[in-house]
Amino acid sequence: MLSAIIKRGSANTLKYRHPWIFSGAIKKINGSPVMGETLEIRSEDDEIIGYGSYSPVSKIAIRIWSFSDKEKLDESLIRQKVESAVNFRSSRMFSRNSNCVRLVFGEADGIPGLIVDKFAEYLVCQFLFTGTEFHKDIIVSILNELVPNKGIYERSDVDIREKEGLPLSVGVLSGSEPPDSIEINEGSIKYYIDIKKGHKTGFYLDQRINRLRVANYSNEMEVLDCFAYIGGFSIASLKGGAKRVTSVDSSSSALESLKRNVELNGLDLTKSETIEAKVAEQLRKYRDYGKQFDMIILDPPKFIYDRAHLEHASRAYKDINLLAMKLLRKNGILATFSCSQPMTEELFQKILSYASADSGRTVQILEKLSQSPDHPIALNFPESAYLKGLICRVI
Ligand code: SAH
Repeated sequence: MLSAIIKRGSANTLKYRHPWIFSGAIKKINGSPVMGETLEIRSEDDEIIGYGSYSPVSKIAIRIWSFSDKEKLDESLIRQKVESAVNFRSSRMFSRNSNCVRLVFGEADGIPGLIVDKFAEYLVCQFLFTGTEFHKDIIVSILNELVPNKGIYERSDVDIREKEGLPLSVGVLSGSEPPDSIEINEGSIKYYIDIKKGHKTGFYLDQRINRLRVANYSNEMEVLDCFAYIGGFSIASLKGGAKRVTSVDSSSSALESLKRNVELNGLDLTKSETIEAKVAEQLRKYRDYGKQFDMIILDPPKFIYDRAHLEHASRAYKDINLLAMKLLRKNGILATFSCSQPMTEELFQKILSYASADSGRTVQILEKLSQSPDHPIALNFPESAYLKGLICRVI
């Protein structure tokens, strides 16, 4: 069988079961594996450590599916892993009040690089690396067996595929093509989403519990929702009783969808204003003409992908948070997020403390937020923790 011999020091660290093996940790590859093919992973002492998939182009040369000589990477193991992830989501609170859920969250579910979201009767998949790409047909057929659906759609149009040497790939994998607009619900809130053209897989399910938490503060508030997309926080805030919500985003099509979502929920359109602008510029405008708000939500896109850009990203986070603090009325609420994985909770809090000092405002943290539980954080894969948020009182 094709195998990779791992250098002694690196093999020792694999006992913590982190699923990535960097190319520098490999002493030798036996055979000529093609992209995505399965390798037996062996120590220099010739013990089997587990099984993983090969990525010849990526710095992460092997991603591990199994840490046992007894669990070979075959259809039965893939089935067992997908079933475990999917059935847990179906049997618990996730499917109670909602018709959408993340069914599989990559390495955190022991399935490196596979994302599966369920939106009403459609599934959307991302195959983020060579191993899942290699087993795509099996994965699609297992999903079809486990989850009744009208269609499975692929949205592997993400930059990281290029690092793996894979082309971007979008389209129907099975069943029918999803319509341009699908109605989903999170509790009593409904959204129209577009899984073919929307961001990522169409909607940000990771913020589900946070939308409800933030909405708890919105009653009678004048709210500014920055990076609003199709209205996740805006609609939740209006539902929570906000007096008025201003939603800022640089995408005009996202804001068009947001307006449709306000209507879909039977909410008063006159309470909702949309502004197509860059957030930092819009916040500066507000500062310059003295506009104030009771509550500001900052949910920017990923500012960074790797540690090298942490300093630059830190400045960008500080900038928008500092401006937001200045724009809040006394005792205003700031709900602020970072989905950049290399930005730690500690660093994020430190950046906010600098923003607080520079803005001259005293800030208390009321709640600490994380990603919704259908995006679990695996202890053997700390990289699965990426979303952090703070709800603050700005005195
Ligand atoms: N809060 C949303 C998700 C935000 S995703 C929710 O709960 O669903 C990030 C959004 O920021 C995207 O809609 C994108 O169009 C927008 N965006 C990216 N850069 C921006 C910028 N500089 N100014 C304004 N919007 C921006």
